[in-house]
Amino acid sequence: MAESIEGLTFAALEARLSAAGVNPVHARPVFSAVQRRLQGHELHLADGILPPVERWLASGAAPGPCVLELVDSIPSADGFTEKYLLRLEDGAEVEAVRMGFPGRFTACLSSQVGCAMGCVFCATGQMGFSRHLTAGEMVAQAHHVERSLRASHGEHLRNIVMMGMGEPLHNFEPVMEALDILTDNRGLNIGPARMAISTVGHIPGILKLARHPKRYSLAVSLHGASDEERGALIPVNKKWPLSDLLEACREYSAIKRARVFFAWTLIGGVNDSADHARRLAVLLQGMDAHVNLIPLNATAGYEGEAPSETNVREFQQIIQAAGLPSTVRQRRGIDVAAGCGQLKAKRLKCTQRR
Ligand code: SF4
Repeated sequence: MAESIEGLTFAALEARLSAAGVNPVHARPVFSAVQRRLQGHELHLADGILPPVERWLASGAAPGPCVLELVDSIPSADGFTEKYLLRLEDGAEVEAVRMGFPGRFTACLSSQVGCAMGCVFCATGQMGFSRHLTAGEMVAQAHHVERSLRASHGEHLRNIVMMGMGEPLHNFEPVMEALDILTDNRGLNIGPARMAISTVGHIPGILKLARHPKRYSLAVSLHGASDEERGALIPVNKKWPLSDLLEACREYSAIKRARVFFAWTLIGGVNDSADHARRLAVLLQGMDAHVNLIPLNATAGYEGEAPSETNVREFQQIIQAAGLPSTVRQRRGIDVAAGCGQLKAKRLKCTQRR
């Protein structure tokens, strides 16, 4: 895909200006106009953009703004969550979600078109993999959510989670570039501690993240306490088995001196019993870990059932008693098909029916 001006890190923008014979001191107003004021097409009109930069922007050598068209959006009943289906330059569609509360809104961004990991409960996994997103396409999603948040609530994004469509660690470099841009204090200035990368257990990516200069939060999807159980839900467990995955998480935690967040989607009758809870507690014993329990958001194409409230409560009590901190994630936005890929899957179904 063509690169876009949103996808240039500050250092890359300086280098591009230098290469074009423009003093790199001009990088700051351009970066700020694009990343802070969210200007794209009208960049030449922005304050502080001087003639040499205008000439560069008009020369055709400068990358243009990312093409990102809003196809569909669904707000939740409470008005805090909103899901967007966005069309990219090549016609591919991805989802981004705004969620949270006044004062702490989060954008959930996609990293790929489709996904190669094939998790059985996930609408995106059922679509297959089409392509990686560029850094600019990820930054442009954050810009879209930020713009809509400014318009609807007069607020700014506080957090970013790479938890939309795709496995972010399978698209490592562009994801790191996008987060580098979004953390830049000349732009949206969202601190690294407010960014989380959610992985299904991509071990090479976890080990690279452990050695990356910035410390982003790591969230790992577990869903099963044995290779057999986990492999039935997450096919890549065969490639990256549980013991190797937990070793990589321990390494990440030790190098970064950081807690690892584990996601456990509770599926009625599949992994929501007291026995599962006890085995999970043993598995994570001694690790600086926190478990997010997520009652299944039933998806089209997956037959699993939501767990009972009693099972959710008991599950949490057992792991808490074993010393494992946990949170039951509120099912905010359940009315907007908030599970990743569900809006696109829903739309595809509607289109097929027509
Ligand atoms: S849950 Fe995440 S990693 Fe698994 S298929 Fe869906 S998008 Fe991919």
